[in-house]
Amino acid sequence: MRTVIYPGSFDPLTNGHLDVVQRAAKLFDRVIVAVAKNEGKRPLFSLAERRALVTQAVKHLPNVTADTFDGLLVEYVASKNAQAIVRGLRAVSDFEFEFQLALMNRKLDENIETLFMMPKDTYTFLSSRIVKEIARLGGDVRSFVPPHVQTALLKKLKPKK
Ligand code: ADP
Repeated sequence: MRTVIYPGSFDPLTNGHLDVVQRAAKLFDRVIVAVAKNEGKRPLFSLAERRALVTQAVKHLPNVTADTFDGLLVEYVASKNAQAIVRGLRAVSDFEFEFQLALMNRKLDENIETLFMMPKDTYTFLSSRIVKEIARLGGDVRSFVPPHVQTALLKKLKPKK
């Protein structure tokens, strides 16, 4: 059983994330999308909300599940008996940080491999941060996120009376 972990903040999940998930699902028996607690990043959505948005987005993919984790990624990967970590690479700007992270994770546990996948070119400009910014300013995010994520964003950002 080949299992890969796709870790991230997913605050919220975008079509770019989903593209990586779908590619990984073709290569591995099992994909676990692992939502990191990441309190330090002050996420817009709670951990439970981010996980629920992922769960709904992957429900059509039989070998993909959503989970949450806190603490060291390599320890989480080992606890799931997974062999690899997958990360998305959008542009050269992602490379330096991802390279450092991958090598650090290898230092911590050399049995775990990190793989990088490039999303479809139309998603290379997409990030959760930009999607939140556009939604906050009242822009249309329909083509960037699944419909249920758009609904959640509108609800979350609705001005409080
Ligand atoms: P993190 O806070 O860990 O970077 P993100 O949720 O922002 O978490 O991203 C998780 C992973 O998904 C990272 O590997 C990131 O590079 C990748 N990713 C983010 N947006 C996209 C996208 N549009 N296309 C492909 N990969 C992406």
